[in-house]
Amino acid sequence: MANGYMGKILEIDLTSKKIGTIDTDMKIAEKFVGGRGLGARYLWERVKTPGLDPLSPQNPLMIFTGPLTGTILPGPSRLVVCTKAANTSPASSSYPKASTVAYSCMGGQIGPEIKFAGYDGVIITGKSEKPAYIVIDDSKVEIRDAAKLWGKNTNQTDLLLSQELGPTFRTMYIGPAGENLVKYAGIITESSRAAGRSGVGCVMGSKNLKAIAVRGTNIVPVADMEGLVALRKEMFNALKTWNGYDQWRRWGTAAMLLASSQAGTQATKNFREGTDLQGAKIGAPISEKEFWVKHRSCFQCPLHCMKIGQVTSGPYKGTIAEGPEYETGTMHGSNCQVTDVAGMMKSIELADDLGFDSISVANVLAFVMDLYDKGVVTSADLDGIEMKWGNVEGMIALQKKIAYREGVGAILAEGVKAAAAKFGKDADKFAMHIKGQEIAAWNIPANHGFAIVYGTSNRGACHQVGPTVEEQQRRTMCDTVVICRFLYYGIGTALFQKALNTVTGWKLDDAAFFRVADRIWNQEKVFNAREGFRRVDDYVPKRMTTDAFTAGPKKGAILPPDKQEQILDEYYTKRGWDTKTSLPTEAKLKELDLGDLAPVVQGLR
Ligand code: SF4
Repeated sequence: MANGYMGKILEIDLTSKKIGTIDTDMKIAEKFVGGRGLGARYLWERVKTPGLDPLSPQNPLMIFTGPLTGTILPGPSRLVVCTKAANTSPASSSYPKASTVAYSCMGGQIGPEIKFAGYDGVIITGKSEKPAYIVIDDSKVEIRDAAKLWGKNTNQTDLLLSQELGPTFRTMYIGPAGENLVKYAGIITESSRAAGRSGVGCVMGSKNLKAIAVRGTNIVPVADMEGLVALRKEMFNALKTWNGYDQWRRWGTAAMLLASSQAGTQATKNFREGTDLQGAKIGAPISEKEFWVKHRSCFQCPLHCMKIGQVTSGPYKGTIAEGPEYETGTMHGSNCQVTDVAGMMKSIELADDLGFDSISVANVLAFVMDLYDKGVVTSADLDGIEMKWGNVEGMIALQKKIAYREGVGAILAEGVKAAAAKFGKDADKFAMHIKGQEIAAWNIPANHGFAIVYGTSNRGACHQVGPTVEEQQRRTMCDTVVICRFLYYGIGTALFQKALNTVTGWKLDDAAFFRVADRIWNQEKVFNAREGFRRVDDYVPKRMTTDAFTAGPKKGAILPPDKQEQILDEYYTKRGWDTKTSLPTEAKLKELDLGDLAPVVQGLR
């Protein structure tokens, strides 16, 4: 068994109920390492033709760890869910079911447990005849009947699983949104941690798979344990001397709510503005003073950036939600013009409990509020709900309709791009997405780097990928080794690179390390290109290039159309891609040892 790896991938076919293992292909692992990288290559090898319906039994739902997952380092907690996305689509394609790659990272405790159970990953195909859940207890693996879990919200599912299996199992599950194939359903763990993006919960629901529970007793093999112990100490010291250490531990990402608003980058009023003029009412100081009751951490992480808030009075008394942190606080807060933190927390709690991608569902709610404000839809179109800005009760009612696909909820369950097409009129002007995935909490006009972040992300609008090629390489490696990006902010990539070598016994230098990231990005890019995605799919919503901010410190900010063209040209050139189509060049693919993809791309030119 190679160091850093458990040497096996668990493979489960829910149609035939066949359970087995395959050896982790170390030739692939040496080129793509782990997590998102393994996902990119295994997806390519298992989805051999374009246009596969993401909700078909053939679409593999793959969960990958990385070589650092489950080691003694600070915070090696993550897994990555990889599949063909349920929620994206190109501007045009020969394939009606065309979509991008999907990868979605999950923290908490379950990633390490998969390795402790003896697996580098789990690949699930097929579709169970009846609702099912999977129990992995080291080498003992069972597919069980999920009749008693199906239909339950995520909190209830978590509770029922822990009552049945006890506290030593780690679990991940979908809620009603995933069961009812809401395109932007997520997979939840520990009630509020999520592999939220890319519609991975919808793919899981399409397989009639409610939950996965894991327990393991193995340890991760390490090439140089003495070296790793020393490195662990070095990493903890690096974190403690990081100037963001105290702030991160105290406030987590909620600290960015006010800072982003002041910089004009906070999604506000369905992305019409970048500064929330009421922002002081929802910032971290209010939450800390009035709502937060405890900090929570992922596996072995000293930052405990997750804040658990509780509402103790008023109409939302009893609400318990994570945060509000930056993304959910902005998307359910300023972007919907909610200034009542308790109400915002209720909306966030419900989004997790119904099993949505909290970012996407809040983007959908803001989209509807914008349409309502402009008279594109009326309450008659919304089953009687008056979706005025800031209407928390309307947000609650609409979330429930979407999760169960009731009335207008069936339209909104398809995401803003498809819903805009269904509503007609000018609704598409209000749909804030790229490649069909809803934009997250950072707005673009006051910081044009976000046009690259969202536009070029291979999984559709994603705030996490970085504004330059170099930063994208660093963050791709975080998703690959696999570690939390917040730890990378505090520790930097150099120590994680050293950790990868110490754990595996490899001797990757800087160039080789970043070449892996480049290879992964290009592998994903070619998958998308084969589906029909091109340069036109990397543009931001048109309104950001026509309507300037009207208020706040960045009043007048806009992304001029020619600036967008210029930054995309520069980006593609730096990537080694053709600027007209955005397709990787043959030379680039060969340089990355991806020569087998060159004929495919050649056929697309
Ligand atoms: S920084 Fe926060 S999200 Fe990241 S591993 Fe630590 S606790 Fe989890």
